[in-house]
Amino acid sequence: MTYQNYSLAQLREADAAHHLHPFTDHKDLRAAGSRIITRADGPFIYDTEGNEILDGMAGLWCVNVGYGRDELADAAYTQMKELPYYNSFFRCSTPTPVLLARKLAEIAPSGLSQVFYGSSGSEANDTAVRLVRHYWALEGKPEKNHIISRNWAYHGSTIAGTSLGGMAAMHGQLHGAVPNITHVMPPYAYELAEDGESDEAFGLRAARAVEEAILEAGPENVAAFIGEPVMGAGGVKIPPASYWPEVQRICRKHDVLLMLDEVITGYGRTGEWFAAQSMGIEPDTITTAKALTSGYQPLSALLVGDRIAGTLVEKGGEFFHGYTYSGHPVACAVALKNLEIIEREGLIERVRSETGPYLGKALKERLGDHDLVGEVRSFGLLAAIEIVKDKAAKKRFDPVGRAASCVRDHAIATGVMMRAVNDTMILSPPLIWTKATIDMACERIAR
Ligand code: PLP
Repeated sequence: MTYQNYSLAQLREADAAHHLHPFTDHKDLRAAGSRIITRADGPFIYDTEGNEILDGMAGLWCVNVGYGRDELADAAYTQMKELPYYNSFFRCSTPTPVLLARKLAEIAPSGLSQVFYGSSGSEANDTAVRLVRHYWALEGKPEKNHIISRNWAYHGSTIAGTSLGGMAAMHGQLHGAVPNITHVMPPYAYELAEDGESDEAFGLRAARAVEEAILEAGPENVAAFIGEPVMGAGGVKIPPASYWPEVQRICRKHDVLLMLDEVITGYGRTGEWFAAQSMGIEPDTITTAKALTSGYQPLSALLVGDRIAGTLVEKGGEFFHGYTYSGHPVACAVALKNLEIIEREGLIERVRSETGPYLGKALKERLGDHDLVGEVRSFGLLAAIEIVKDKAAKKRFDPVGRAASCVRDHAIATGVMMRAVNDTMILSPPLIWTKATIDMACERIAR
C-alpha cells in the first residue's frame, strides 16, 4: 500500500502519533505538523501540497547527483535480485564491497588504500575512534588514547559521535561522554578573530590551540586529532589557508594521528573527490558517508591509511568490531554506480571551475551588501550567510537562532530549502546545480 491511499491529514496524524523525529522538539512538531516530502526530481523536492522547492541542502548534504536517477535504482534492483545480502564477517566477502574498496583506493589521497564499511557517518566515526586506539595499543602504547576535537564540530549522534562533536546542546544531553576527548577552538574567523588580526595569523592561532591541548594531555597520551576540513553542521566554518598545514605539522611533530571527517566534504563537494586534496592535507584516516551513494542507500566508508592498516596486518589479532551491514552488497552497488555518474558527468570538475566559484560570487553580489548580512562565505558548493542585526558591530539578533530560523522558513516558502545553524544560514546543494540554478536560488534567497 502506498502513501497515495492516505490523505495529508491522515499522514500528519500518524506521523504525530507514532514517529519520533531526529533533532526535533516534539511538542513544537505536534503544534506545527510535518512538511511531508513525497517525491523529488533533479534539483527539486515536492511536498504533499504540491510545492516545488529547490533543494539547497541536497537532502542532508548528501544527494550530490540529484534526485530521480534511474541508474541508481536499477543498480539496487539488479543487486537485490542477485544477492540482496551477505556479510563480510568470518572470512567471507561479496563482489560489490570489494570493487568499491578498490575504486575508493584509486580516488582517495595517496596512502589511504584500505576501507572499513558501515551504514552511517556516526558509525564510521565510532569505527575510527576504536581503530586509532586499537592501533596505538597494537603499537604497545595503549595509554596513547586521547583524542583532540573542536568546539562546534559535528561527528554524529551516537555516544562516541556526540562525545567527539563539540555541540554544547548535544553534550548537555549526553549524561556521560566517552572519556579522553578534549575540545579546542574552531577556526571560525568571523566570530573569533581579533580586531585587526589577519586571516593567516588567526589560522595559526587556532592551530596552536591544538598543540596546546596536545601538550596539556602529554603527547605520549594523545592518539589523534579529528576535524572536518570545512565544518558543516556547525555552520560552514571555513578555515583560513594557514590552518590545516599548521595542524598537520603539529600532529607530525607530536606523532599524533590526523583523522579527517569528510562525511560532508567527501565525493566532490569541494571540487576534488575529497577536501584533503583541495586543501593539501595528508590524513591517516578519512570518514566518509552521505554522498558516497548520494543518499540513495545508507553507506559509510572509513578510509584507512597504510600506517594503521600496515600495523593491523603485521601485528595480527582480531579487531573485535563491525556491523551486520558492513559492506552491504546493495549499498555498495549503488555507490559504485554513483561514483561512475559523478565521474562521467564531470561534476567535480564543474564544482571546481564553474559552479563553486559562481555560487560564491553570486551570493556575494546578491546578498553581500544587505544590511542584515554580516558575511557571505563559500568553499566549493558549501556556503554560509551570517545574519546580523548590526553589520558593523557584528551584533546578532536576540534570542540566538530566531532570526535565521525565520529567514529559513521564508526561504522554504519562497521555494528554496536552506538550513539555519544559530544565526548562520547554510547552503549545500546537489553538484548538478548549474549557473542558472544558482541564479534561481540567489533570487529566491534575496527575496
Ligand atoms: N560527520 C559529519 C561531518 C556529519 O556532517 C555527519 C552528519 O551530518 C556525521 C558525521 C554523521 O553522519 P550520520 O548522520 O550518517 O550518522
